[in-house]
Parts: sequence; structure tokens; C-alpha cells
Amino acid sequence: MIDLPTHEVYAIRYATQPQRPEGSTFLGGDPKKMIRGLDFFTYVIKGPEGTFIVDTGFNADLSGDGGRNFLCEPSEVMNKFGIDSKTVKKVLLTHAHFDHVGNLDHYPQAEFAIHVEEMNSITGPDITYTPFRVAYHKRDTQKLVDLLYEERLSFFTETVNEVAPGIEFHLVGGHSRGQMILRIHTKRGWIVLASDAVHLYEEVETERPFSIFHDLQKMIAGYRTSLQLAGGTNRLISGHDPKVTDWYPAISNEFEGQVLDLNIHPQMN
Ligand SMILES: [Zn+2]
Repeated sequence: MIDLPTHEVYAIRYATQPQRPEGSTFLGGDPKKMIRGLDFFTYVIKGPEGTFIVDTGFNADLSGDGGRNFLCEPSEVMNKFGIDSKTVKKVLLTHAHFDHVGNLDHYPQAEFAIHVEEMNSITGPDITYTPFRVAYHKRDTQKLVDLLYEERLSFFTETVNEVAPGIEFHLVGGHSRGQMILRIHTKRGWIVLASDAVHLYEEVETERPFSIFHDLQKMIAGYRTSLQLAGGTNRLISGHDPKVTDWYPAISNEFEGQVLDLNIHPQMN
């Protein structure tokens, strides 16, 4: 067996939405019933091939919209634990919804990468369909096009893409046309950053569909793929479940509720 390098993975919780209507969360949910909401994350991967940032969060000026509270600039938090966002070289984008591709200008030296299916979706006929454009913002797409012309945006084209030894980027689609998930080799084995392929653990536990999707069948298939690649919910990091914040410890007291250590087994309850 080839010895794969291990990577360190951290989640930065930069925003939270304490409550949310069930109807905005699950397909067929009650629009009047409020349930526990979502947390919002950016991720840092550190390893022998350098530092990768995964997704860039929504812009601070959207704080308050939909009851989503911006807690901190992800790039400022990174700076506090020794990563200078201004010199970061690689940013991986799981998809282009507004809460994943804001703040691109905080990484002025970085090259960005996204799946070609997602780029085609946000710059083509998909956007003429109202339900498909609901979570995209024009200014983010314009910035991605700017990066393309600056030769700072590249594309994944395969279903399974190797980013570096021990980091795989899988296209699953479903939630968005080009939705990807990351499989990362860490000191506790492989873990999966599911991003919005799995917003909440309930989606994989009961195959209860999230309310926003491009392709329902692919989204549910994505739940299965995410769980299968992770090998269990203890190795699957959902993209928005506040249980991630409940289960994983902060890297230190200073970063309580802000920087979560995904390299150790979670305390699930
Ligand atoms: Zn999201």
C-alpha cells in the first residue's frame, strides 16, 4: 500500500442562523414551523503540498439576511492562527452558491478552482430557471468571470479529481449542477467535507431531501456517495449542520465556537 500523506483539516465557523423555517430546510417541510438552523463554514487544509482554503463564505454585507448572522471574517480568523490569506495560493470552491464564494478578493495571490459543470451552470441557460438561481448572486459570478480573465480560475473536469496526494475532489451534483465533495486523508484516516451535498446529517440518515436542488435524484445519490466515501457519519463533515460545532472541539479556548479541529474523532451525542 502506498503511504499517503496526512493533512490537517479545520473548520472556521463564520456565520450562524439559529432558526429556520422547516419549509426552507426540507422539501415538503412546514413553512410556519421553525427548527434549528444552519451554521456556515470555511475550511483550511494544511499538508505537505501547502495550504488549501475550501470555500470563502458569504460577504459580511449580507449579515442579517434571512436571519443569518455573520460572526467573523474567515480570512481574519485564519490570520490569527497563522495563515495569511493574502499569500494563500490555492482556493477550492465546492460550488458557487453565495455562502461559498463571497470574499474572493481576500485571497489576492490565490488560484481558484471549481468544477466546469458549476461554471457552465452559472453562466448559461440554467440561470434562466428561477429555482436554480435562488442561491446565486450575480456579483459573485462576475468576480469568478474576472478571475477567469486574470487566469486565476481553473476547472476540474472529471468525476473524481486528485487535488494532491491524499486530497480527492468528487463531483456529485444534485444540490447544484457542479456540487463537489472533498475526501481528505488525515491522521484519523479519510474524512469527507460534504459541503452542501449534505447540509444536515438528517439528510443522510433518512434520505430526507433538502429544499434547494438542481436534480433531486442526484442529490439523494449524493447523500449515499458522501456517506459511502466517508465510511460513517463520524467521518462525514456536513456542510451546515450545527452538530459539527457541537461534536468537534475548538483548537483552543480562544477559538471556541470558531475554529473546529476535524482531525480528531468527534464526541457525538
Ligand atoms: Zn451552503
